[in-house]
Amino acid sequence: MTGTPSSSDTLHIIGGGLAGSEAAWQAAQAGVRVILHEMRPDRMTEAHRTDGLAELVCSNSFRSDDAANNAVGLLHAEMRRLGSLIMRAADANQVPAGGALAVDRDGFSAAVSKALHEHPRIEICRGEVAGLPPADWANVIVATGPLTSAPLAEAIRALTDESALAFFDAIAPIAHKDSIDMSVAWFQSRYDKAGPGGTGADYINCPMTKEQYDGFVDALLAGEKTEFKEWETNTPYFDGCLPIEVMAERGRETLRHGPMKPVGLTNPHDPTTKPYAIVQLRQDNKLGTLYNMVGFQTKLKYGAQQRIFRSIPGLENAEFARFGGLHRNTFLNSPKLLDNQLRLRAAPRLRFAGQMTGCEGYVESASVGLIAGLYAAAEARGRQLAPPPATTALGSLLGHITGGHIETIEPGSRSFQPMNINFGLFPPLASPPTKKADGTRLRGNEKTVAKKQAISARALADLDRWIADNLAIAAAA
Ligand SMILES: Cc1cc2nc3c(=O)[nH]c(=O)nc-3n(C[C@H](O)[C@H](O)[C@H](O)COP(=O)(O)OP(=O)(O)OC[C@H]3O[C@@H](n4cnc5c(N)ncnc54)[C@H](O)[C@@H]3O)c2cc1C
Repeated sequence: MTGTPSSSDTLHIIGGGLAGSEAAWQAAQAGVRVILHEMRPDRMTEAHRTDGLAELVCSNSFRSDDAANNAVGLLHAEMRRLGSLIMRAADANQVPAGGALAVDRDGFSAAVSKALHEHPRIEICRGEVAGLPPADWANVIVATGPLTSAPLAEAIRALTDESALAFFDAIAPIAHKDSIDMSVAWFQSRYDKAGPGGTGADYINCPMTKEQYDGFVDALLAGEKTEFKEWETNTPYFDGCLPIEVMAERGRETLRHGPMKPVGLTNPHDPTTKPYAIVQLRQDNKLGTLYNMVGFQTKLKYGAQQRIFRSIPGLENAEFARFGGLHRNTFLNSPKLLDNQLRLRAAPRLRFAGQMTGCEGYVESASVGLIAGLYAAAEARGRQLAPPPATTALGSLLGHITGGHIETIEPGSRSFQPMNINFGLFPPLASPPTKKADGTRLRGNEKTVAKKQAISARALADLDRWIADNLAIAAAA
């Protein structure tokens, strides 16, 4: 990439996808000169088909647009308040999709491309950045996404360390803790081992009888699975994270000797009966609101996951924050590698955005691009922008990215995994609602609905305050 103009007050953004496009827009709107580097069409990824900026590689949906009851809908609302180009282009190219925001993908990409091309402070430079950016690029955002080209990925890996950049996400399902039936399940670590950072009672355990285990294995074997795409099959780094259904195929007892082994645990609800198998869930976020099913990475379809995992005693009513999956991806161990401004600790001129940081999805990636653009713009003007409050959707997603990895009692067995926005990432309410507007008590599902609505209202109020305190001042200066 020699010969490209550069100066210390120019922001270089690598990758013109969802995150890079939004970051470019935000920084340029904040008054900073931007050069956006996109390798397509010179070099394509395995999933992109066009040379358009912000191309949607698969579904055309931005998911729910309900800001009051859905976490991604809330993120939409927050992004609109922050002047998001991605949301503006999505709104202008909406197609009918019930409560979801779905878009005409070509119209959407064309609208983003046009806005960026026409912006007086943005220059678009086509070509792969095939290694670390030149040393004189002082302010850089890397937003090259899940299919980052190999030479750049290798260079980033060399700058960090072997295990800090993953090329596959092997995700076990994650459940909301308050949906697990603790009259059946119990807290205990195997052999009551405390380990570093543990208490000796760090896992939630769900017991199974022989009949339940047999039924579970049959269901896994029969369950509908998703197929690997051809280029995913050829991607290395896949060994060592076998899907549970593949383990089940290797023998009916394999899971009982692997992630479901019933040793070192006593069921306090029935201490004299030894469970035949045990499913363990481990805390997944600092807040302790989410628990992941240990060793349960899977390629089962989502419907099959919900049905089969709800057959596990204690999980009959489990609500899943995300289902399991195995995908080709490229993402950093961000909580370890990035500071709270999304800069690489080892090379702070490099800031990361989008799916590489460990968020997942079009909207989440664009939102992290949005904040990275604002951070980088502030830095170009010699300032530092305070992160958005943890109570906002954007702030809670950033909380997962920069703090989502909790220390484990079994070092090495757990890693940071990408996440969509969900209500489990938000700090709990100080006083959750108990009554309706008319003074009558909330019952059953009404409580969950009221809680989500209170979290959403708190988020928007806190975001407005943050904008007034930080961005209004920046604009005036
Ligand atoms: C097969 C597949 C299907 C998916 N389906 C969905 C879905 O249905 N819904 C959903 O919400 N999310 C989906 N995702 C996730 C989605 O791709 C991301 O959430 C989102 O696009 C990430 O945004 P990003 O900006 O981080 O990366 P991208 O949007 O992928 O943008 C990265 C850009 O960087 C460019 N680039 C890469 N390397 C270089 C380089 N060295 N130099 C210059 N440019 C480079 C790429 O060409 C690309 O334009 C899918 C991902 C994959 C791989």
